[in-house]
Amino acid sequence: MNPSVEKLTKFLKLEADRGFDNRAVLGGLERMIEPWKAEALAQGVPPALIEAVEARLRDYPGLTPRSREEALTGLWRRLEGEYPELQSDPGQPRSIGSEAEPAPAGGSAPEPARGERRPASALADDQGLGAEDEPSDLEPGPHPADRPTGPPPALSAPLTTVPGIGPKSAKTLARLGLETLEDLLWYLPRRYDDYSQLKTIHRLWYGEDVTVIGTVESIDVRPVRSGQMKLIEAVVSDGTGSLRVTWFNQPWIVGQLPPGRAVALSGRVDQYLGRLTMNSPEWEPLERQQLHTNRIVPVYGLTAGVTARWIRRVVDSVVRRLAPRMPDPLPESIRSSLGLLPLGEALQQIHFPDSWERLRASQDRLAFDEMLLLQLAVMRQKQEWSTLTAEPLTVDDGWMETFVSSLPYPLTDAQRRALTDVRQDLALRRPMNRLLQGDVGSGKTVIAAAALGMAAASGAQGALLAPTSILADQHLASLRGFLSERNGFPEGSIRLLIGATPEAEKDEIRRGLASGEIRVVVGTHALLEDPVGFARLGLAVIDEQHRFGVDQRSALRAKGDNPHLMVMSATPIPRSLALTVYGDLDLTVLDELPPGRQPIETRLLRPAERSRAYRFVTAQLEAGRQAFIIYPLVEGSEKVEAKAAVDEHRRLQEEAFANFRLGLLHGRLRQEEKDEVMGRFRRGELHLLVSTSVVELGVDVPNATVMLIEGANRFGLAQLHQFRGRVGRGAHASYCLLIADRDDEAENARLQAMESTGDGFRLAELDLEQRGPGDFLGTRQAGFAELRMARLTDIRLIEKARREAARLVEQDPELTLPEHAVLARTLQAFASTRKGEIS
Ligand code: ADP
Ligand code: MG
Repeated sequence: MNPSVEKLTKFLKLEADRGFDNRAVLGGLERMIEPWKAEALAQGVPPALIEAVEARLRDYPGLTPRSREEALTGLWRRLEGEYPELQSDPGQPRSIGSEAEPAPAGGSAPEPARGERRPASALADDQGLGAEDEPSDLEPGPHPADRPTGPPPALSAPLTTVPGIGPKSAKTLARLGLETLEDLLWYLPRRYDDYSQLKTIHRLWYGEDVTVIGTVESIDVRPVRSGQMKLIEAVVSDGTGSLRVTWFNQPWIVGQLPPGRAVALSGRVDQYLGRLTMNSPEWEPLERQQLHTNRIVPVYGLTAGVTARWIRRVVDSVVRRLAPRMPDPLPESIRSSLGLLPLGEALQQIHFPDSWERLRASQDRLAFDEMLLLQLAVMRQKQEWSTLTAEPLTVDDGWMETFVSSLPYPLTDAQRRALTDVRQDLALRRPMNRLLQGDVGSGKTVIAAAALGMAAASGAQGALLAPTSILADQHLASLRGFLSERNGFPEGSIRLLIGATPEAEKDEIRRGLASGEIRVVVGTHALLEDPVGFARLGLAVIDEQHRFGVDQRSALRAKGDNPHLMVMSATPIPRSLALTVYGDLDLTVLDELPPGRQPIETRLLRPAERSRAYRFVTAQLEAGRQAFIIYPLVEGSEKVEAKAAVDEHRRLQEEAFANFRLGLLHGRLRQEEKDEVMGRFRRGELHLLVSTSVVELGVDVPNATVMLIEGANRFGLAQLHQFRGRVGRGAHASYCLLIADRDDEAENARLQAMESTGDGFRLAELDLEQRGPGDFLGTRQAGFAELRMARLTDIRLIEKARREAARLVEQDPELTLPEHAVLARTLQAFASTRKGEIS
């Protein structure tokens, strides 16, 4: 028969097998019109017949399944008129033949029977043992989840319930973390290969990724490289031309693709001796449902013993059976008002997308679910906390006035608002849970001092936790300045507890805290690790909260009876993101810097301008100021980095800054060594501090006026901004010099934002857009970065999900309405897998 007609009839049959869902060809049957026309013309198919085919296929997508069936049956008759041998076609489906019968409904028609018996090994490698894509333990017969009605599929059922997965395959899949049907359903593709472009052979171009449909002309195996390898070589033609196709070491392909068989080949077009070829393309006999070819093909993560083809087939069988019957957690009203795909469809499309557009729609849907669950989980957490009882801590207006009037400066409006928030929270019978967020230098410390003062003045105790002893020490000094005899804090009522505190003193502090004599304690991790007990801990404040984990936060909390909690962060993240990541906390933002702050003049320099930068630093040092030089983490190893910093330090000390005293900080120093260096710098004994980026510099050195950052291109803007915040804390004009370690247009453009704005929020937003959230949320929030689909950078998604979550919580706080039953179950599961990440 005419090959192009044969090919067409194969598609018509496939389409009939699928119940006329217009998926036999990716993108719809209409997609094959153009390539088929060219081929058919070349092969002498009568033009009138070609036109008839074209007309039918063009209209096809708009028809109902019933009319589609009629259209294709009609077309088949036309073809039979021209090619009588079709009448005796043994594979002719009845629904297309003369005594037309309704086609099976839905796209899950049984797969056509296959002739070849597969070799015995279940999960053999494509390269090796001769297994094709099907596992050998593929048993015919009903699938447990195949009953069209009945209860929802047991997602927790083991994978061995899938036909084609025996105990051996299940064991191999367990290596990929896949144990249950649900695991497999959610085993999302790593990426996709786009083989949706269907072309005729004479139109192929070298280098493109395409699908070709043709007939096998010849196929043989021959040994190469002295018999160690087997080369399978086939010639496939489609009437417009022929193509050489090769595979290595998969001799069973020969049995699968005998001459005369129609095949779909997908891969990259290559050339060999001037002829177009395809090397190791994906292939599939045409009459099968197309999983590996002629579509956007999913690519899954693999492990030894699992081939790409095999897992695709297994996933397909699970997805096809389970996805349509997965209960959808999204209430229909939300789903339709947001125009999201139903869950079943999204799962189907994320694995085997019909188009890039549908893939994106499925990603949107799944990302929305995750974000919604995340929001609901934090809202629920917040709600739970709101049911706890805490001791109200109140001070009178007189105390507040004394506190404010004894400050060395008037508070900014933002600070006033923050004080009001905190005072109100503390006065409540439920524990405060507040995040105080403010750019570096926005004046968070005084708010912490006020809160601790209020707690202590009302008879409870307060604790302030800082990430480093230097910071703790600095906070101690600040607190003693803000809280003294005049507002009820005699000497000795505020104490410092750090690792380096002598044992005898620690003992004494422990006793003072246990008796209640010590009202406020400032400390580091030592505060948590030591068996420190409080008489009455009323308020815990955590500075630089991203440096602490959830466990540490709850350890501190546990030292009191539902104490109030305030966490502080200098990471200026956009509000909607803060509300997600810290959605369980109330938020106060210090969005204003104290007046009179001089903007820090920032310059981006080329590597060649380094000596100019050194001259500038020298001039500042000569004028009595101090400076920082920061080196980036280059190799990702602290050890290597430390060595680089040691070398740089020596070089700078010996050459550029021979007349000054330089200090060195890096992550390999012990805490006491770091404290010692930092202390000397703070006291002015060192002029210049060379430091690696791992060392937190959250310290006030008002005399420091230059921050020079090497390898600035390696940092996020938010992080650069944090470094920059280390200068400009005194009366002197201050500078930030950025040197990139390579001269890159795009990088420079990014870094230029540092020159043009001093607004930490703006920079954080830019960072989010450019680099994603991981870089500045810190490792502690890593759990959130592991979201499967949703990106925390997608502010629009976050806001949408947040709105819906709020509406749901308002309407049905416990999710008890019947239409929320699935959502409630899903949320339960979600929250239990993320326990500990939220808080
Ligand atoms: P943060 O911890 O938010 O980075 P700090 O609390 O360390 O900021 O304050 C930064 C500097 O600003 C400190 O030197 C502090 O004394 C000063 N400061 C804070 N509030 C004010 C204010 N309202 N007016 C003037 N200076 C202030
Ligand atoms: Mg601070």
